[in-house]
Amino acid sequence: MRTLDSISFAGKHVLLRADFNVPIESGEISDDGRIQAAIPTLSEILNQNPASILITAHLGRPDGVVDQTYSLAPVVNRLSKLLKKPVNLLAHQDLFSMLSQQELSGIYVLENIRFDPRETSKSESERIQLAKELTRLADVFVSDGFGVVHRKQASVYDVAKFVPAVAGRLIEREIEVFNRVLNNPSRPYTVILGGAKVADKIKVVDNLIQQADSLLIGGGMAYTFLHAMGFEVGDSLLDLDSIEAVKSSIEKAEANQVDLIVPVDVVVSREFSDSAERKILDADAIETGWMGLDIGPKTQKLFADQIAKSATVVWNGPVGVFEMLPFSEGTKSVAYAIVECSGFTVIGGGDSAAAIRALGLSENLFDHVSTGGGASLEYLEGKQLPGLMCLMEDM
Ligand code: AMP
Repeated sequence: MRTLDSISFAGKHVLLRADFNVPIESGEISDDGRIQAAIPTLSEILNQNPASILITAHLGRPDGVVDQTYSLAPVVNRLSKLLKKPVNLLAHQDLFSMLSQQELSGIYVLENIRFDPRETSKSESERIQLAKELTRLADVFVSDGFGVVHRKQASVYDVAKFVPAVAGRLIEREIEVFNRVLNNPSRPYTVILGGAKVADKIKVVDNLIQQADSLLIGGGMAYTFLHAMGFEVGDSLLDLDSIEAVKSSIEKAEANQVDLIVPVDVVVSREFSDSAERKILDADAIETGWMGLDIGPKTQKLFADQIAKSATVVWNGPVGVFEMLPFSEGTKSVAYAIVECSGFTVIGGGDSAAAIRALGLSENLFDHVSTGGGASLEYLEGKQLPGLMCLMEDM
């Protein structure tokens, strides 16, 4: 993969894709981890005095229309503070007139790239049209939005067809870590999977069964596993469409002698609410009308013991509804067990990264906190990601 080392930025117009998809509550950024993660690459390029840096990024899913709820304005303010330099927010129409007059100098963030429907279009020719506009003035494309490299989108993938493309330091580090886990994990290697999207995660389970020594399943996805094992799960989250795939994964785990560990007890409630009545039940005795929203204390211990004896740990997805305090204990216990673990520890982005920050745990307590939940899962699944493939080909 080509990196910043293979190119000089002095006097160049740089186009850079970042991942600034941060949570914003009442106009305020509640977690700026992804903006912080972009700083090393930006500083390194700025130190070489480029003519300009034009950053593209998205926020949420505005679905191809201009919607100020998804404006990158708060991001631009934060970025400017972190870089200690002026950063300009550019509306799409202003960018395209500036590009034609070749007036770009300094640091710019283009307003949410997903305001333009061509960014995520299924039509290659529409994406190419946008990619050509974005690269009109660019001498080089730096890809540093790891969280989006699994997307075949104009600003991530198609732009690399028109200018030399290199990976920034964030992508370089993410790939180094995930390659180590994928190709050469120290053993025992344990993966903790949680979250709610079973269908998305089932493919990665299949791939991990061939690599990991143990697989701990928590979160909303655990109930589809429990159901596939023949237990009633009451009103818990259940993905019936994934049952057959889950059964086949369970069989593969047995054949490969992988420890597949599902919850033995769960915290249940009648409502998806932090104030409703709740109780702890064995996982094989969830009653109708109750839904499992966190792992119970016995499962916490089971998971923690497994994590403690691991030499490599990867965690993707909260093991309970951690956003609600009464159902956050399981996720907290997993996070602390990983902190205590002396092995190589990786937090696989998305909600698990948000959970450790919400717990006030410093990123330094882990070997790596990924900025890409979906991207890291697809990488571990063994897929070739378009936003990385375009950094491999000859310039
Ligand atoms: P994902 O995007 O698949 O990683 O899912 C993350 C979401 O899963 C978080 O918002 C959690 O609140 C949610 N989650 C975790 N455990 C459960 C559960 N037992 N039931 C429903 N949702 C859950």
